[in-house]
Formats: sequence, C-alpha cells, structure tokens
Amino acid sequence: MQTFIPHSPRFWYMTPVAETDRPILGVVVGETHTLLIDAGNSESHANDLFAAMDAEGLKRPTLVALTHWHWDHIFGLSALTGLVSIASTDTKNRMARLLPYEWDDASLDERVKSGIEIPFCADAIRLEFGTERTMRVVLPTVTFDDTLTLDLGGVHVVLKHVGGDHAADSVVAYIPEEKVLFLGDALYANLYAPSWRMTAEATLRLLDLLDRFDADVYVWSHGEVVSREAFEKDRDMLRELAHLALDFPGNEAVMTAQYEQKVGRTVNEEERELITFFVNGSSET
Ligand SMILES: [Zn+2]
Repeated sequence: MQTFIPHSPRFWYMTPVAETDRPILGVVVGETHTLLIDAGNSESHANDLFAAMDAEGLKRPTLVALTHWHWDHIFGLSALTGLVSIASTDTKNRMARLLPYEWDDASLDERVKSGIEIPFCADAIRLEFGTERTMRVVLPTVTFDDTLTLDLGGVHVVLKHVGGDHAADSVVAYIPEEKVLFLGDALYANLYAPSWRMTAEATLRLLDLLDRFDADVYVWSHGEVVSREAFEKDRDMLRELAHLALDFPGNEAVMTAQYEQKVGRTVNEEERELITFFVNGSSET
C-alpha cells in the first residue's frame, strides 16, 4: 500500500512498492513551481501520485526531474504531459537506447537471454504492466551535464550528477532549505552485470561526494526516508566494507572476519549481501 507523506509543507513523497519495483517519488512544492523527482515506473504509478496530490489539495507539478535511466524511474513520463522534463545528458542518451525496444514477453525474454535486460526487471515489468505493455519512452526536454539548480519559489533543488556503480548517469537531488538529499538509486549495486556487484573505488568516491551535502534527511528510492544518523550508519558501514574490499579483494572470508572483528559481532544479512557485492565487484568477470 503506497502512502503519500508530507515530510514538510515543501517536501512530500510517495512510498515505494517492492514487488513491482516502484521507487519513491518526491514532490517539492515551491511558490511558483512544483517539481516531481522521478516519473514513476508506469503511467498508473504517475497517476496514483497525481490522485494523492489532488486529495491533499496540492497544485499539479510543472516540472519533473529524473534520477537515472532505469525503467522504473522513467516509464511514468508519458503520463506527465505538459510538464517540463529534466535529466542529465547522459540519462537522456541512455533513455534513447530504449526507444527501439518492444516490451512483449518474447522481446523481454530475448533481451534477458542476451544479457541486455535482467530477470529482476523483466519480472517487475510483467507484474506492473500485466499484459498491457503500453509503455512508451519519452525523452526529457531539458538536459544538463554536471549540475542544475532550480528555483521553485522559496525553495531550491540542486540536481547533481554523481554516477556510481548502480548507474553511471545517477543524479541526486538536494533541497537546501529542507536539508533533504534525494539519493535515488545512486548507492545501490550494479544490477546490470552477470552478478550484482559494487566496486570499492566507485563507492568511496561517491560517499565522499555525498558528504559534501549538508543534509538531515536522506531518501533511498527503493528503501526509506531516513535521518542523518541512520544514513551515516549505512555510510560508515559501506565505507568500511569498501576499504576491506581494497585490502582483501575478492576474499569473502577475510573481509567478513575483519569486519566482524571491527564491529564486535557477527555480520547481519545486509552486511553479508554487501560483502558478496564487493567480492563480485573485485572479480574480472
Ligand atoms: Zn535504478
């Protein structure tokens, strides 16, 4: 069940859905413009957000910014007629590669077989769309390379390209007046690889970059909206694991033992999974 939550009068968000891979959608309400952060995984996802905004008496958005090219963040764009869409140049280029694709079962199976698509996304697409594969890739109107600042009237949004393992085009959205940093999927693993993986170098670079934003609230698009304290706990864990991955590349047993010694307890399920991602990221294949 998705809910539409006011973090403050100027920043609202709709919660994610794991089964169909719907990410969190952000809404930044300014005096002159309202911005959506990400377009949703389908027209129905975008329309669910509109219905929730209407129910709260919020003005319809005039702008939408995309965090990266993955289907679950962009397929809602075709429902957002009349909005000005914004993305990094890299995101637009990667979206353009999707234009020739068909989305029926046979085409999805074919792309999974050839390694272009992954089963995780193909399954979620089937679940979100059922047999009605009406999705249409719409390219964004405004592009930027590194940074773009939007003045929405009384509140700003800074879009910053950060890249990372998950998607090289990843952009984060920072709302300085609210001290909110919308991470998108930037800190997640690379899912478009033979095995899910993270690299130490990209993770450490990204964490250093994210540390430059003065935020109290962080949005993990497929997770939760968390406090600075909670984010810093995850950040420190990732940083520690990345350093261990540099020191003991590909060595799951030693990474695990060293980490357990450092924290004084056995690794939990999340840490175990991340260690596997870093091990996968150290291998050549
Ligand atoms: Zn993604």
